[in-house]
Amino acid sequence: MAKKQAPKSAESDNDKSPKVNTPTFNKHYEKIDSEIVFEFGGPWGVTAMMIGFPTLMYYLWGCLQFYRGKLVSPFDIQFWNQIFKGAFPTWYATKMYVLFCLFELFLAYFMPGPIVKGAPVSSLKGKRLDYLCNGVTSWYATIVTSLILHYYGWFRLTEIIDNFGPLMSVAVVSGVVITLVIYFTTIMQGNQYRMSGYLMYDLFMGAVLNPRLGHVDLKMFAEIRIPWVLLFYISISAAIKEYELFGYVSASMAFMVLAHFLYVNACAKGEECIPTTWDMTYEKPIIFGKQLISSLVIADTANSQKNRFRMIINGSYIPRYTFPQLPWGTLKNPTYIKTKSGNLLLTSGWWGIARKIHYTADLMMAFAWGFITGFNTVIPYFYPVFFVAVLTHRVSRDMERCAKKYGKDWEEYCKQVPYIFIPGIY
Ligand code: NDP
Repeated sequence: MAKKQAPKSAESDNDKSPKVNTPTFNKHYEKIDSEIVFEFGGPWGVTAMMIGFPTLMYYLWGCLQFYRGKLVSPFDIQFWNQIFKGAFPTWYATKMYVLFCLFELFLAYFMPGPIVKGAPVSSLKGKRLDYLCNGVTSWYATIVTSLILHYYGWFRLTEIIDNFGPLMSVAVVSGVVITLVIYFTTIMQGNQYRMSGYLMYDLFMGAVLNPRLGHVDLKMFAEIRIPWVLLFYISISAAIKEYELFGYVSASMAFMVLAHFLYVNACAKGEECIPTTWDMTYEKPIIFGKQLISSLVIADTANSQKNRFRMIINGSYIPRYTFPQLPWGTLKNPTYIKTKSGNLLLTSGWWGIARKIHYTADLMMAFAWGFITGFNTVIPYFYPVFFVAVLTHRVSRDMERCAKKYGKDWEEYCKQVPYIFIPGIY
């Protein structure tokens, strides 16, 4: 199959979005997307994850909080007693967490932003949903509000790190409650999709594909508006605490604040690229459940290249002037493979170098986040190691799905772009 030249990108065409009549939905896609595939070890695997992950979080937090990062015996009853007392959910932590989530929801509902069409959703017979992408305005509003609250002493940001244990428990409990509420509401409304019939598996994977509250897509909201923003505030809270205790902010702490700021900023400024991803059209919301600058640039531009390519083809591309707009985020005259069923597979830019180079960049960032803390404890390395497992599993799931969806065209793509993570190596 020969490489083809795509219609000129918006950047090369005075920001006009060329519309190409690409049939991006058909019966074959519908069949693939509705197939029940047992992931994560099936019902037993997800049950173990639902119990094991919170337990592991408490264990790691206990080691950091009470033993300066030393790994203690998980069979020590005294240790679990300390965790129980230290992380018991308090009314104060509940108020903090719930008010934060409600504030973010309020912003997601009311802040201005462009409305972007998602990719065709198979379960909705190819319907394209509208997404209000006000991530950037909401992010800036959150920063300004928190600075005012902190400056006037109405809510000191150090409260976050001071209440970390109880906050973690509130987050775990609310994850369970929201999972149950959405699950049973979906069943009552008859909106369930791709159900396996195994309660624990369906609870973990979710029942509904695109849960919404008014025009707010709860899946997209939960994916970027809560966890990443919270992560940034945990870092900034720790940095202020360090300054208050020692009179300085260490280089590693400053690195983490910058890293987390850039990560949330990248999610917010590129939010309009999310509606066309497979997270939105295929994955259900799993509620229960990123060398810094170079990695960020690769991840940012690789995600932009593919998603903007797809948006241009779909006619949903809108030029954004959010900060920072990196060069090479929109490809000029990209090459692609036109699949039998109509979808186009990009073969230029980062996508002509390796099929998942943005995953590699994300993993480099995750390791940088660990290395910056040094080697006094192995705990900061849990996230990058866990992330390797998550992304390698995600690659195999995605490759399997694309092979089924695109057949020989996918084989051709793999031939043209043989490497997955690192060109010339793997
Ligand atoms: P991708 O961005 O690789 O999206 C995969 C999908 O894109 C495929 O299913 C296919 O969908 C389409 N596609 C694949 N190849 C091409 C191509 N050459 N041209 C056009 N379309 C193509 O994966 P993710 O959505 O998983 O990742 C997005 C980002 O999110 C990455 O940077 C990743 O690291 C990050 N991520 C972070 C996580 C975290 O917890 N920190 C977790 C997961 C992801 P289609 O069916 O439409 O053709």
